Amino acid sequence: MNAFLKNAYQSHHALEIIFSSLRWFFLVLSMVVFAIQYFENPIEWKLILFVLLVVFGFLYMGVSDYYLHKTPEGSKMYVMMTKGGPFFDFVAFSALIPLTGGIDSPLFPLAYLIILHVAVYWRFLGGMISAACFILVYSIIFFVQVQEAPALHSMIDYFSAVFFLFLIGGLGGIIVSRERKHQWENSLLVEAANRDYLTNLANHRSFQECLRNDLDQGKEFYLALADIDKFKSINDKYGHVTGDKVLRQIGEILTTILSTKQGKAFRYGGEEFAILLYYHDESSVKELLDEIKHAIACHIFYDKGEAFSVTMSFGFGKQNGERPDQLVEKVDELLYKAKNSGRNQIVTADVG
Ligand code: GH3
Ligand code: MG
Ligand code: MG
Repeated sequence: MNAFLKNAYQSHHALEIIFSSLRWFFLVLSMVVFAIQYFENPIEWKLILFVLLVVFGFLYMGVSDYYLHKTPEGSKMYVMMTKGGPFFDFVAFSALIPLTGGIDSPLFPLAYLIILHVAVYWRFLGGMISAACFILVYSIIFFVQVQEAPALHSMIDYFSAVFFLFLIGGLGGIIVSRERKHQWENSLLVEAANRDYLTNLANHRSFQECLRNDLDQGKEFYLALADIDKFKSINDKYGHVTGDKVLRQIGEILTTILSTKQGKAFRYGGEEFAILLYYHDESSVKELLDEIKHAIACHIFYDKGEAFSVTMSFGFGKQNGERPDQLVEKVDELLYKAKNSGRNQIVTADVG
């Protein structure tokens, strides 16, 4: 039950399944209500209309359920059938209520449900417009049904129905809008928690999570660690603001190159970057790291008109079922080797 509710909180699809099940439930309930009323007061044209309505309902709901379950979420037919559902409900409601007792119909509260369904998609405005539509239908039925001058108590019933319809439309819309705002704020927080502010790359936390997930799933991949050579001297010579610009531009180079490759770059910390490369063979990884190394070495940075360049050292290795910290340690040693062997190079473990 908990999982079901959680699913309904988070996905439109689960919510649509609930609305679709309710539609079937209310179709059966309408048949029961109509049958009881019909046996008390059999009027043939009402029976014909009701049968037509039920056939129409079965057809629509059958087709709608097919698209709900068999087509991918977001496909044209899926969207049309789910977002179009409340319109169908409104039409069916407008025909059903006069057939089951008019303003006294026990099925009238269905209006509240349909208004809430509209508010899920079109928030406050949708809630208010749908409430207005239901008020119109209610008013027509009311004034047709209460033909002579309405008594005070029936006017009170009328205004209270109108008031509740508006209330549900307005409150439903506000609640949905608030929930969407929270959802949006939450997504911003998640993004901020996982992104490095300076380079706009995924950050260390994101790296650790990604690494752990990839290892848990037994994915085949390589890990590379890259470190800017003599970066301290760049800071000393040009200042930290220019140093920051260098880090940012290196982030951009990594993002651009990896956008068309099977890899993801992270800012590991300071002037170090981690790259996860989802390739089966070492030569493809080496080739890709060569491309990155070359792009960075050829990039011209500027400080107050003065041009300069930087180089990077790389260590990389294949995951071999190690724990995340063991894998990082293994690759870090290779990076250390690259530094000790003169920098500006790519080092991996010797095979054999
Ligand atoms: P090596 O070739 O051995 O890596 O030399 P290095 O100078 O790059 O290494 P070291 O670890 O001595 O210095 C790293 C420098 O990176 C020191 C630190 O000030 C700088 N740094 C770390 N994070 C940032 C940052 O966010 N912005 C700037 N501007 N500098 C940073
Ligand atoms: Mg360095
Ligand atoms: Mg370093």
